[in-house]
Amino acid sequence: MWRPLSAIVFLVAIVNPLAETRHRDQLQLDDYLDYDGVMEYLDQLARTYPDRITLKDMGLTYENRSLKLAMITNGDGRLGKRVIFMDAALHAREWMTPVAALYTIYKLVVEFEENADLLADFDWHIMPLANPDGYEYSRKTNSTWRNTRTPNVGDCIGTNLNYNFELGWGVGFPELKDSCDENYAGSAPFTEVESRTVRDIMHSLMQSERGVMYLSLHSSIRMVFYPWIYDSKPLLNEGEHVEIAKFVADQIFQSSSTVIRTWQYGEEFGGTSIDYAFYVGFPLSFAFELSGLDHNHVDHGFFPPTSEIRRLADESWTGIRAFGKKAIEKYPPSRAIHQSQEHRTTENSATRTWGLDPVV
Ligand SMILES: [Zn+2]
Repeated sequence: MWRPLSAIVFLVAIVNPLAETRHRDQLQLDDYLDYDGVMEYLDQLARTYPDRITLKDMGLTYENRSLKLAMITNGDGRLGKRVIFMDAALHAREWMTPVAALYTIYKLVVEFEENADLLADFDWHIMPLANPDGYEYSRKTNSTWRNTRTPNVGDCIGTNLNYNFELGWGVGFPELKDSCDENYAGSAPFTEVESRTVRDIMHSLMQSERGVMYLSLHSSIRMVFYPWIYDSKPLLNEGEHVEIAKFVADQIFQSSSTVIRTWQYGEEFGGTSIDYAFYVGFPLSFAFELSGLDHNHVDHGFFPPTSEIRRLADESWTGIRAFGKKAIEKYPPSRAIHQSQEHRTTENSATRTWGLDPVV
């Protein structure tokens, strides 16, 4: 019986190329994609949905990989909408983070109808691999690799991108200065093309007055945290951050019973991307530490078994969707964005190199 059946399948495939396209537009969640797999999936979506997703090469890494930004809109042609900017895998070994970023792209582009509320007045700009050299090295050579792959002075390689941003750079603990340590903050702020690229996207979104929320994906300690990390002062709009973080944690707990803790770190270390985002004017800035728990609550840290990817991707989407919903609710187009002008840095030399007048 298999011959006639396979002939029918073959015929259906020929007469229904749309089904084949739909199949390719599904995100593969049975294994972790490598760099090429991530790029191919983005290209596939951009071919099928050119009015909803635009890809832009924002920079080239030391090993010549693209820092690719996916810009997602609902295709209504309105330009200049407010933007939620999300990145993933600044830390190379956090393998669930590009999965969560790609799954978000899938939800916004392919399952557009179910998520149209997230795109009515907002665009989403998503960088699924913010450290592709490190990610490839982690996937293929040394899974616990965390940093970039740029050589340092001496024999050691790599800088920790989440200590390489300017605000409070180098403040914290001695390993930040050790070029052979996985916590190395670089020889100066923004030594790495990856952190410079994220910075430039932030600046551009501030200058065009579009940036509302910066969301940086990490794993796997099941937390939502918000600035300041380098300073103990509360944010001017700390209440909004607390409310949103708790909402995200509640949504996840209700759907999967995973407990997500929420807090401001406060005076721990400098150079993080979320501190920098708030500093340059994003009114909302969060790091979302995804779960590495399997369905029996065994913690697999950075490397959940592939059989758990789909479930964890769903859980991450529950959280990311909650972030988006709340950001849109808090900052509708009718509300002016108040910049954090009153915050002044202390002993470190962080400065704004571009002007922004406070919105009153
Ligand atoms: Zn991390």
